[in-house]
Amino acid sequence: MNKISHNWSEHVAFGAASTHYPASVAEVQEIVRGAGKVRVVGARHSFNHIADTAGALISLRALPRRTEIDVVAKTVTIDGGTTYAELAPVLDAAGFALFNLPSVPDFTIVGAVSTATHGSGNANRNLAASVAALEIVTASGDLLMLGRGDADFDGAVVGLGALGVVVAMTLDLVPRFDIRQTVYRNLPFETVVENFDELMGSAYSVSLFTHWNSEVVDQTWLKDLATARPPGAEFFGGTPAATEMSPVLGKEPYGTTGQLGSVGTWYDRLPHARIGALPTEGYEYQSEYFIARKDAPAAMRALKAVQSALHPALVVSEVRTIAGDDFWLSTNYGPDSVGFHFSMARDWAEVSKALKVIEAALAPFRPRTHWGKLFVMPAAEVRAGHPRLADFRALATRHDPGGKFRNAFLDAFVFGG
Ligand SMILES: Cc1cc2nc3c(=O)[nH]c(=O)nc-3n(C[C@H](O)[C@H](O)[C@H](O)COP(=O)(O)OP(=O)(O)OC[C@H]3O[C@@H](n4cnc5c(N)ncnc54)[C@H](O)[C@@H]3O)c2cc1C
Repeated sequence: MNKISHNWSEHVAFGAASTHYPASVAEVQEIVRGAGKVRVVGARHSFNHIADTAGALISLRALPRRTEIDVVAKTVTIDGGTTYAELAPVLDAAGFALFNLPSVPDFTIVGAVSTATHGSGNANRNLAASVAALEIVTASGDLLMLGRGDADFDGAVVGLGALGVVVAMTLDLVPRFDIRQTVYRNLPFETVVENFDELMGSAYSVSLFTHWNSEVVDQTWLKDLATARPPGAEFFGGTPAATEMSPVLGKEPYGTTGQLGSVGTWYDRLPHARIGALPTEGYEYQSEYFIARKDAPAAMRALKAVQSALHPALVVSEVRTIAGDDFWLSTNYGPDSVGFHFSMARDWAEVSKALKVIEAALAPFRPRTHWGKLFVMPAAEVRAGHPRLADFRALATRHDPGGKFRNAFLDAFVFGG
């Protein structure tokens, strides 16, 4: 079987002794039973070593795709290898949708949920919120079924792959919907900061793109329900973009979802990138930090104050809001939150310097790091940001007493100390 050698951004070399592509759940069980150390990899889009292992690496791409829509319960059950790009058009054709999507649809759904991947919207929780049930092959090779309401469910959903191989997931559906996307340019920075909650709540999903180095926020992407009133010729001091935009100023808008007030189906507007538009390898680094939304204005001023230290590493920064949740290891556990994302050039010397500055600027707001992205925060600080960490450790240890699913990343940032 082909070895999976590295992650999407090509800078994390996987150290697995063997790679496996099971074609059935029974095969997954057999591999897990026979393995010393084992991890699952999804679409490889995480930027750190979270999916890595020195033992057996399992990809679920060869599992038969499962898309079982229950029109009465309004759910869909998928296998652990399905991506958002594969699922969304099928749901749409059946009259259904997921409530939200990430910026690109290429991730496996289980990989995204496992790291608390999110989209945007003051009222939208992260993507783990749509999970209604899980089927997990645990360290013993047995199948564990968990549903919403079960005692361990809130601990298992954002599971970082620590509980076992999620071979199936049931997701809540909503009726399909259309979204209108409009991009506004040059909102005055202070207007954005002073009206942060109202601005970020003014559409179903809102993203700010900025380089922090001017008195304006370069771009504000509004993704609103097609049934809502279209936004006007002026928006918090900004004006509509005259042409389609890339989030990165000066770049061609290759593969971006339709803008200029155009209406499209949910999966062709909620992400920034169209299905199939993202290259199979990416030459960038990404980092993201989450704090309570109430602290967003102060944090934005703190980031602007250190902007000169973010360059030349910074390509573009994105600000999104995410409603709070109850998943133990979620980066959005607790109060409503805001995520400060940084796309960076692939130059670790510059990036690590910039991350130190970002983490220091956000320290008063006790940031949590995105589980799938890069950070330089000491492990003890990462762990301290998760109030339910001890509960999660106990849960994972109950299902994996020998630490079969642990790797160096989890040993440091979850099980260390
Ligand atoms: C271009 C790009 C854009 C991004 N945009 C966003 C965004 O909009 N919002 C956001 O929050 N993040 C974003 N991310 C980060 C991304 O969502 C996460 O890294 C996500 O985990 C990637 O999913 P994946 O399928 O590639 O999982 P992988 O990176 O392959 O794995 C992630 C984790 O999930 C575990 N896992 C995967 N499958 C299973 C399984 N079946 N059972 C058990 N564990 C499993 C792995 O072991 C690992 O711990 C972006 C990343 C990239 C490269």
